Amino acid sequence: MPATVFADIAVPLPIHQLFTYEVPDELQDSIVPGMRVLVPFGNRRLVGIVVRNHSEGVQPGDATDLKRLFAVLDQTPLIGPRLLELGSWVSSYYLAPPGEAFRVMLPPGLLSKSVVTDLDRHWPVRKQLAIAAIGDQGEQKISGRQEQALGKLRTCSLPLLLTEAAKLGIAASVLRALSTKGLIRIEPTEVMRSPWSATNIQDGPVRRHVLNEEQQAAFRLISEGLSAGSFQSLVLHGVTGSGKTEVYLNAISQALSRGRTALLLVPEIGLTPQVARYFQSWFQDDAAILHSGLSDGERFDQWRRIKQGEARVVIGTRSAVFAPLENPGLLIVDEEHDGSYKQEETPRYHGRDTAIKRAHLENAVVVLGSATPQLETYYLATSRHQYGYHRLTSRIQERPLPTVRLVDMRVEFQNRGKAAVISEVLEEAIRLRLERGQQVLVLLNRRGYSPLLLCRSCGTTEVCNQCSISLTYHQETNRLCCHYCGYSRGVPKKCGNCGKEYLYFVGEGTERIEELLSQRFPKARLARVDRDTVQRRGSMARILSDFAAGKIDLLVGTQMIAKGHDFPRVTLVGVLAAEQSLRLADFRSAERTFQLLLQVAGRAGRGDQPGEVIVQTYFPNHYSVKYACAQDYEKFFQQEIGFRRMFRYPPFAALANIIITGKDRERTEEQAAGVVRILIEERKLQSHEERMRFLGPAPAVRERLRGEYRFQVLIKTTSRPELHRVLEALTARLKEVGGTGKGISVDVDPVSLL
Ligand code: ADP
Ligand code: ZN
Repeated sequence: MPATVFADIAVPLPIHQLFTYEVPDELQDSIVPGMRVLVPFGNRRLVGIVVRNHSEGVQPGDATDLKRLFAVLDQTPLIGPRLLELGSWVSSYYLAPPGEAFRVMLPPGLLSKSVVTDLDRHWPVRKQLAIAAIGDQGEQKISGRQEQALGKLRTCSLPLLLTEAAKLGIAASVLRALSTKGLIRIEPTEVMRSPWSATNIQDGPVRRHVLNEEQQAAFRLISEGLSAGSFQSLVLHGVTGSGKTEVYLNAISQALSRGRTALLLVPEIGLTPQVARYFQSWFQDDAAILHSGLSDGERFDQWRRIKQGEARVVIGTRSAVFAPLENPGLLIVDEEHDGSYKQEETPRYHGRDTAIKRAHLENAVVVLGSATPQLETYYLATSRHQYGYHRLTSRIQERPLPTVRLVDMRVEFQNRGKAAVISEVLEEAIRLRLERGQQVLVLLNRRGYSPLLLCRSCGTTEVCNQCSISLTYHQETNRLCCHYCGYSRGVPKKCGNCGKEYLYFVGEGTERIEELLSQRFPKARLARVDRDTVQRRGSMARILSDFAAGKIDLLVGTQMIAKGHDFPRVTLVGVLAAEQSLRLADFRSAERTFQLLLQVAGRAGRGDQPGEVIVQTYFPNHYSVKYACAQDYEKFFQQEIGFRRMFRYPPFAALANIIITGKDRERTEEQAAGVVRILIEERKLQSHEERMRFLGPAPAVRERLRGEYRFQVLIKTTSRPELHRVLEALTARLKEVGGTGKGISVDVDPVSLL
């Protein structure tokens, strides 16, 4: 008698464990890890993922209690062995329920209940009518038009979609007639939904360049890594405009020619359609694209093309790190410092760090590229030699970096008073560029018209009841909006507190700047890019393509305009309120300010004409503003790393942020205190007070969010293994404080503490 077979299953629920099921005899030959199965769970049925099969592992005697799984849903595993390993790593490293870790690896919906009720529909492919076969005419009499149509069809490869046949000028009535006579067979055929449309910002093939010496050296390093066939990592630190993309594309070709597949991660495809377009132009049918802007169907199709080996290279955002590529040899993380690589909900993984882990598992090369590497990355590369390091020190064709001018807004304000939102220096500089037919970017990292509605009589500001944060006025909708929860309401005439009519807008956002600029430069063609203007699909691509085509002179926007764009006609970048992000109470705010300023400055002077940057600030002496203006990463790093060392922040400590949320303030605070109690007990067992410290419980910076109270406990430690042991113990004991897994979340390696 064969031994009983058991399967450990991850179910799509917020539960921190796998569940063991007995596999019925008739399914034992067909069940393989990575497949979906249908299992009983309580009185429900769930679709789970098989993580492993075994014949022991259960305590003797327990086996009788185990339920049997109902069915195996796939013929081949959806998740291969390496990715199963990666998913298990994500689950344990980020303290995420395994079911949720595996769920993000799959296209949406594959673990959903509709799959359970309708098994036939669990592959939601799209079908369209197509001509599948052409029959023998034999003795049949057909008309001239039909004859002609048949002739044309014989030259086509089948199946041919009816929509394609129409493009050849074959009328539908002719096809119908041919079909009735049995001369062609029409049947539904699967079609792939094409996701590239949003990325075509210019037409025609892209130009390929001969790599310059520095690019060549970077390319060689990656190639050597590829030929070694073992795990290698490389930080590619290249100033803005040094041609990193060209290095990536060449390296990917190299990986392909060695029989491996490749992955390029980018922060947000909608924001930088250019890179996607290069990618598609280089790799054509070999290329797949994955990002959250795709419809579920498109995502599903792309995923399947990769899985079936039809697409061997993938460009995508964060979750594309889980793309089902077979044997990837090269994983590139572009703009590795970008905060969008961190998922801010369960599983709270970091795309870059997960890519590094995946490269380990696959014996692949991982490249981390940036003009402003995250502090930890740079430190690990240069001080600890944990990663290889290569620098691209100059721009393509020896173009100079832009010159930067600082405008001290305190002085400007003394001279011109409140009118001084846009300084004289900046206004003059814009005028000059417009006269010369050059383009200008203006950055203000705050959307809306005005961030504050203030009563000048009693000092009250309008706040969101759900989030206790100031409501931003939006002129376009004429409403006050909460930027955290989306709540909005009309603009009151009178102060809600004192009833007087002294309500004033204070401060400005991008809408207001757009208005000011259009008043000062009425002839300029002006556009705005922020989350409000790009909500509709494709609208960002349209604005960027108009800008690239020279149909827009002046582009105002939030940090969205700072990302990797390459617009050769931009010769001036203006930055308003450069110090804005410094006001946030977060240990990364200096770093973020520095990165944003350096990145946006990098948009200027990428063509034949040199670029200029004008930075307006009330805070000209802050080191992150100063060194960004000097475009000196080294100096910024030296100063910032000193603070990190002194206050024990990464890379000198590992962090985990535990956030406790709930409707009732007192109960939530109590829970938070309970969490700390458990942590202190566990620290006694696992660690040492010197090595592991707890900060909190304290109200979170955003104390109220969407109507819930938030408390946080920050763990700082110099020992990662101890951190994980303590967090695992905490996870196992959450029930003691009434934690459901939803109200208490653990963020390992948080990117933001806000
Ligand atoms: P980065 O991402 O490093 O800021 P990009 O990859 O956007 O820089 O490259 C800047 C510009 O230089 C692009 O227009 C690119 O096509 C062009 N370019 C890249 N490499 C070369 C080269 N070797 N010769 C000429 N132009 C190049
Ligand atoms: Zn709100």
